[in-house]
Amino acid sequence: MAYDYDLFVIGAGSGGVRASRIAATHGASVAVAEEYRYGGTCVIRGCVPKKLFVYASHFSEDFKDAESFGWTVGDVSFDWAKLVANKDREIDRLNGIYINLLEGAGVRRYDGRARLKDAHTIEIAGETVSAEHILLATGGAPTMPDVPGIEHAISSNEAFHLESLPEHITIVGGGYIAVEFAGIFNGLGRKVTQLYRSEQILRGFDWDVRHHLAGEIRNKGIDLRTETNVTAIEKTADGYRLSLTTGETLDTGLIMFATGRHPNSSDMGLETVGVELAENGAVKVDEWSQSNIPNIYAVGDLSDRIALTPVALMEGHAFADTVFGGNPRKPNHTDVPAAVFSQPSVGTVGLTEEQARAEIGEVDMYKSTFTPMKHTLTPSEEKTLMKLIVDAKTDRVVGCHVVGPDAAEMVQGIGIALRCNATKAQFDATVGIHPSAAEELVTMRTKWTPPEAQAAE
Ligand code: NDP
Repeated sequence: MAYDYDLFVIGAGSGGVRASRIAATHGASVAVAEEYRYGGTCVIRGCVPKKLFVYASHFSEDFKDAESFGWTVGDVSFDWAKLVANKDREIDRLNGIYINLLEGAGVRRYDGRARLKDAHTIEIAGETVSAEHILLATGGAPTMPDVPGIEHAISSNEAFHLESLPEHITIVGGGYIAVEFAGIFNGLGRKVTQLYRSEQILRGFDWDVRHHLAGEIRNKGIDLRTETNVTAIEKTADGYRLSLTTGETLDTGLIMFATGRHPNSSDMGLETVGVELAENGAVKVDEWSQSNIPNIYAVGDLSDRIALTPVALMEGHAFADTVFGGNPRKPNHTDVPAAVFSQPSVGTVGLTEEQARAEIGEVDMYKSTFTPMKHTLTPSEEKTLMKLIVDAKTDRVVGCHVVGPDAAEMVQGIGIALRCNATKAQFDATVGIHPSAAEELVTMRTKWTPPEAQAAE
């Protein structure tokens, strides 16, 4: 049977656009549907605008540090509306670039919400089209808990378009988005309270990273309260009153929930076609990104493997190479480097200490906490943390964790080393770059011994 397209992609975010372009390059006839703007969460209301906000917010610290280097910084002021407008201009530019990339590759665009009628038929903007293969790449959306008064709260989606920034902002959550926005608003001069329901922020990260970052963000003035959650939100004359699990109340000018995200799988006709979904709505896929319906695939946050842009790109690219490029390959989800753009930032790749002990057993640890060179002249008490985890039997470095300025820039390279199964001996044989913080990663020579073991020695 002849179809209108070889591939119909639903969702023009990172995964969908990459898959569309690569499939088209392989000679497939491709169409993509997008109901909002091109670029997806990362470009429109995620990684890109967030990183721009992180840059903006760090200037307050830079102005203070500058004085220790001989500068006299005059009166400074901050214009939120200007930052938002400049950010929006950049997002418009990127949206245009994504459209050009698709058009340049010969991909047909459909603007609107696509719904499946059957495994090969899609309804979009009043048209019905058919495709041999369908790729679902509709991403995810913030999850707002069922708390009385939740309609008064915002998610990260709205945080990018606030008309003004109130003096006091409360953020609920202890994951990526919560710590990143707590740092942003704090750096922009707002009083920030961060409420986290469990023992320590950044669950799933290495314990030392979690503990170190929590200390640093408290030192920067964020009122981080663990074991605390919101039970109700009430509108007041000039803001909101939060009832907390601790029995206290907290008055705030803005309440933002960063309490996780869920896959966007509703109202797409997936049930009609019988696409199998996980409990949280994710499309269940195998290691080829294939759903239970053989011609329907899913990539990115919708498939809920690792919710990171580069992972969606990898999945979309591997799908297109496999199905249209005659080059079957699976995305590799091991040793994926990641960063949290908190202040200071976190870079991480490989196993945490907890995972390494559980999976490998005997591990050696190398840890270093030090004052970054820049702060030898400033009053800042910020410390950098570096940690390497090594398989004691094979000497292979299985985990690297950094908390400090430019952690993402450092850990990207270490990700290559881990991918190449580098050993600690090879790290040690690598010449450092001096003076840099990163050189510490190749000069940590002394195994870390827990204080209780030291005492027993
Ligand atoms: P995360 O899953 O990272 O964190 C969610 C947080 O919300 C956790 O601290 C969780 O607590 C808490 N939480 C969940 N439900 C509730 C509730 N009902 N009440 C109170 N707290 C709750 O999600 P994010 O929203 O921060 O980010 C979503 C994903 O987006 C990330 O996991 C990441 O994959 C991606 N992302 C990546 C970024 C990057 O690469 N720099 C930046 C931003 C997002 P608990 O730990 O107890 O479960």
